[in-house]
Amino acid sequence: MIPAEFEYQAPKTLDEALRALGRHGDEAKILAGGHSLLPMMKLRLASPRYVVDIGRIRGMDYIREERDKIAIGALVTHAQVTTSELLRAKCPLLPETASEIGDMQVRNRGTIGGSIAHADPAADYPASILALDAEMVVQSSSGKRTIPAADFFVDLLTTQIRPGEILTEVRVPVKRAGEGTAYKKFHQPASGFAIVGAAARVIASKAGQIEDVALGMTGVGSKAYRATAVEKSLRGKTASESLIAEACGKAAQGIDPLADIFASAEYRREMASVFARRAIISALEKAMGRASSPSKGAAPGKTK
Ligand SMILES: Cc1cc2nc3c(=O)[nH]c(=O)nc-3n(C[C@H](O)[C@H](O)[C@H](O)COP(=O)(O)OP(=O)(O)OC[C@H]3O[C@@H](n4cnc5c(N)ncnc54)[C@H](O)[C@@H]3O)c2cc1C
Repeated sequence: MIPAEFEYQAPKTLDEALRALGRHGDEAKILAGGHSLLPMMKLRLASPRYVVDIGRIRGMDYIREERDKIAIGALVTHAQVTTSELLRAKCPLLPETASEIGDMQVRNRGTIGGSIAHADPAADYPASILALDAEMVVQSSSGKRTIPAADFFVDLLTTQIRPGEILTEVRVPVKRAGEGTAYKKFHQPASGFAIVGAAARVIASKAGQIEDVALGMTGVGSKAYRATAVEKSLRGKTASESLIAEACGKAAQGIDPLADIFASAEYRREMASVFARRAIISALEKAMGRASSPSKGAAPGKTK
């Protein structure tokens, strides 16, 4: 449980960090909260020669409104997301998701940038980032680029971030009129990671006419994904229990579910439907301006 030897660097500015990463290429790893990187290094699943600690860079932990978006600095911790009044009021899906991550220690150290860059298949944020159509801003010594969520997650622990780049900002849209959101998660009992997590964003009339719907899923396959078959079955329809149940049966369509000691592939597929349904119902009820108790027979049991 002791990492291989490495050289530690703690730049004070983003420019300094980018220069260090530019020099060391793929021999370097960025350290943010350390709650994923350090366990990987201790298990020797990662053995970087250089560790560039970005935690001392000032000004990367902001949450601010910019026109119709909220910009979140990559060093914002899960705890800061959970308690942000701005996010609670204008993008409540993200605080709801962050509050489900690990325990208080993890939420106090882990960062939104670290979690999204790490792309653990059982991490919570990726489902919501996809449902929100968020944007990731990455920077290298040669400039900045913005990557839409739909293109960002490539595979297990793999994103579009290239060696030498730092994820500096996550941009999420401000909630629209008639929008309801919800994150529902089946917790792995020891670590708290998602065996299955479903993030729903629904725009609907008070009468339940679904104008638009987005459903991000995590924990099911090797990377988070949008359940487009569910979305297609619901978009433009009038909501009913049977319509939602039938649509959510497709939550793992086209996905090869993971299997481990906690859940078989078949069980994960089944749970994907159950948690997708819970998330859609909860989001829909918020969109329709109703109390968030699920309608009869639609969402069995507790989620946590
Ligand atoms: C006991 C335990 C329970 C947990 N439970 C959950 C859970 O329930 N749900 C969940 O989602 N997560 C969970 N986590 C993971 C936690 O959320 C981590 O904090 C998060 O995954 C990584 O964030 P970090 O800031 O710690 O990143 P680090 O560990 O520092 O880095 C992770 C990876 O991302 C890279 N990286 C970090 N920041 C950047 C950046 N700005 N730009 C580019 N690359 C970057 C690093 O090089 C590294 O490869 C748990 C962790 C622990 C230890």
